[in-house]
Amino acid sequence: MIKVLVSGACGRMGKSVVKAVLDAPELQLVAATDVCGEGDVGEIIGGKAIGITVEKDLAVAIDNHQPDVMVDFTRPDAVFDNVCLALKKKVAPVVGTTGLSDEQKAAIAKLSAENDTPAFIAPNFAIGAVLMMLMSRQAAKYMPEVEIIELHHDNKLDAPSGTAAQTAAMIAEVRPKHPQGHPDEKEKMTGARGADYEGIRIHSVRLPGYVAHQEVIFGGLGQTLTIRHDTTNRESFMPGVVLACQKVLGLKGLTVGLDKLLTD
Ligand code: NAP
Repeated sequence: MIKVLVSGACGRMGKSVVKAVLDAPELQLVAATDVCGEGDVGEIIGGKAIGITVEKDLAVAIDNHQPDVMVDFTRPDAVFDNVCLALKKKVAPVVGTTGLSDEQKAAIAKLSAENDTPAFIAPNFAIGAVLMMLMSRQAAKYMPEVEIIELHHDNKLDAPSGTAAQTAAMIAEVRPKHPQGHPDEKEKMTGARGADYEGIRIHSVRLPGYVAHQEVIFGGLGQTLTIRHDTTNRESFMPGVVLACQKVLGLKGLTVGLDKLLTD
């Protein structure tokens, strides 16, 4: 049994993760933390009490319950400290929280190596989103003019989404950096052309009613190709989270992306 602590257990994703861990035969939920820090986690997810109280202090929870893995779905401004703390205590982090900078990821990789404890980060745990990213990288070899539109619920704190940033990074691996649009184009309103990742434009939509969605649009002579992924329910992320909990202890250092855990 792999002992799991869920950090951010009272959040939208955290509650789904608690349920998924309780349902997974190979995983044992040993602790739950959140700044809300009150109540039995079984009741917080809408079921019966299971004798695990949500705790506020991650360090104390790790010391008391000795988890093997910490799953983190918190906030962009909290995740880095949580991951560093876990690694220093030799607990392997599985990170879904988005918004970590490249510098923070490099620091996590260093800390992971220094403490001989693996770490796993996935900007998106949904298999369909991983396929969208892999297919986009493939398509960009043949249709290098591309823009990304990501659409999320309006409680999301970071923009662009981690998935959009990761998609752009994967496309940039196979497409030479170059500007897109007319060389003389001018933004009449700031931000009209979106964020710029090596020439790839990223547009972020935030509206109630959305969960997590993304379109990658490729343009060519007389044609466009759109690769779209829609998450309509947070359950879509759970098989990926459970897989990461099962596999992380067998990894070395920092691994980024669910595609690294998939086998043909
Ligand atoms: P959420 O509902 O706001 O949940 C976050 C929870 O963490 C809240 O209960 C929050 O409490 C708590 N929290 C804040 N700071 C904390 C800390 N220092 N320690 C412990 N808990 C803390 O957000 P969500 O929709 O679940 O999303 C969480 C993160 O997952 C976001 O970054 C989102 O982009 C990401 N996400 C990733 C994936 C993926 O596949 N990788 C999928 C969906 C979402 P308060 O409300 O009191 O602040």
